[in-house]
Amino acid sequence: MKTKSLCPQCLKVIDADVYEEDGKILIKKRCEEHGEFDDVYWSDAELYKKFAKWRYEGKAGIQNTERVKGCPFDCGLCPEHKSSTMLALIDLTNRCNQHCPTCFANAAVAGYLYEPTMEQLEAMMKLLRSEVPPCPAIQFAGGEPTVRENFVDIVKMARNLGFAHIQVATNGIVMAKSVEFCRELREAGLHTVYLQFDGVTDEPYKVLRGIPALKTKLKAIESCRQGGIGSIVLVPTLMKGVNDDQMGDMVRFAAKNLDVIKGVNVQPISFEGRVDESERKKGRITIPDFIRLLEEQTDGEIPRESFYPVPFVLPVSYFVEAWKGVPQLELSVHPHCGAATYVFVEHGKFIPITEFIDVEGLMEFLMEEAEEINKSKIGKLKATAKMMKLGGKFIDREKAPAVFDNVTSLTDILEKGNRESLAEFHRKALFIGAMHFQDAYNYDLERVKRCGIHYATPDGRIIPFCSYNAIHRPSVEKAFSTPLRKSDLE
Ligand code: SF4
Ligand code: SF4
Repeated sequence: MKTKSLCPQCLKVIDADVYEEDGKILIKKRCEEHGEFDDVYWSDAELYKKFAKWRYEGKAGIQNTERVKGCPFDCGLCPEHKSSTMLALIDLTNRCNQHCPTCFANAAVAGYLYEPTMEQLEAMMKLLRSEVPPCPAIQFAGGEPTVRENFVDIVKMARNLGFAHIQVATNGIVMAKSVEFCRELREAGLHTVYLQFDGVTDEPYKVLRGIPALKTKLKAIESCRQGGIGSIVLVPTLMKGVNDDQMGDMVRFAAKNLDVIKGVNVQPISFEGRVDESERKKGRITIPDFIRLLEEQTDGEIPRESFYPVPFVLPVSYFVEAWKGVPQLELSVHPHCGAATYVFVEHGKFIPITEFIDVEGLMEFLMEEAEEINKSKIGKLKATAKMMKLGGKFIDREKAPAVFDNVTSLTDILEKGNRESLAEFHRKALFIGAMHFQDAYNYDLERVKRCGIHYATPDGRIIPFCSYNAIHRPSVEKAFSTPLRKSDLE
């Protein structure tokens, strides 16, 4: 397949080939000036083909830049962009209370302070809420967002502006020290803590963060529990030879703490800056590797078949939109950006949702019904009747965990929203996902154009994550930064 990528040295857009070789999918490209580059795009060709089936053309929820230089320089969002903001990110500061050996972004290294003002933050959030449909979810990031003095007020501002889901990406250090801080955040409207969590022993932290941090992570989880924050997602950076043997243990740890831990979202490492070729090839790990490791390390209880790409659930949006007549968020990101599943834990075993729900059949059914409803006025009545009759057939009751006992039909979940069933579902389900952020070596503009994770920036733009980090971050930060004072680092 032909696509466009970047030269890792001069960041010019260049042609690239994505092709199959020895059961893997590779990417190869050539820059006139800097020569040829190749890398693994996806390490499992079969899984790549399975995921490729779910590729949709979505639409952006806003357009506020013009097409001038072409992607990825026109962000955004420009008229070429093909996904709405499913999750917005705002960096609150580039200060950090941890000094990871791999991070070049923190203020101490950058030499300047990037910290949008309250007015800028409000304008950025309002812009996100003006999308159609309004951006529902926001994540505060950094640096370390919890070191921002007025962080609680910023969370309140997000709640007052109508974000349905507010989360923070954190190393957990401040939370570990204070239950009260967690309680204040919950009261301010924080829903989820995206906790940097690289393993269940100290070793991965020593390599990735330069310190043995497990104790701090456990304390942060406990503080959240006591402070009433009931939703933590563990976010490991996956690196070969560092924590690739801990995927099973990490998911088991999450399952043991299901009262507060709702998910594990793995990020295979991406390479920043110039990286020695042999080091990069030795270290490259992609989403299929994570899926294989998890299958092996759970003795097949979470097999590769349980995973689907993010846009797999798009028919749910189509269906709800047709049903309610209100625009819904479409998760139309590129199928090779991420993978996810839900698992339930019963009698000490994992039961992936795919074991007892015919998820592919269900999505096809929802797609057909959405079309039926859109076609005619009596479509909705017909669809309701069909759902009553057929809805249950997608669930295999013999294999389903007990939490599904009360769910009698699809209409239960989709129409009435069956609050008890859904609340129970959330209490018992563990989300497992992976997203592989791109670096200049495996960059694919087809993925960037479909990105659904967007930064809001103080210059009034909305910039897709993998475009912001590869291209735009330095210029945005420099334009809105102030000189660093010694007191900023204290
Ligand atoms: S990443 Fe999206 S918004 Fe940015 S230039 Fe490309 S298509 Fe436009
Ligand atoms: S952040 Fe990067 S990996 Fe994630 S959806 Fe956007 S382009 Fe894909």
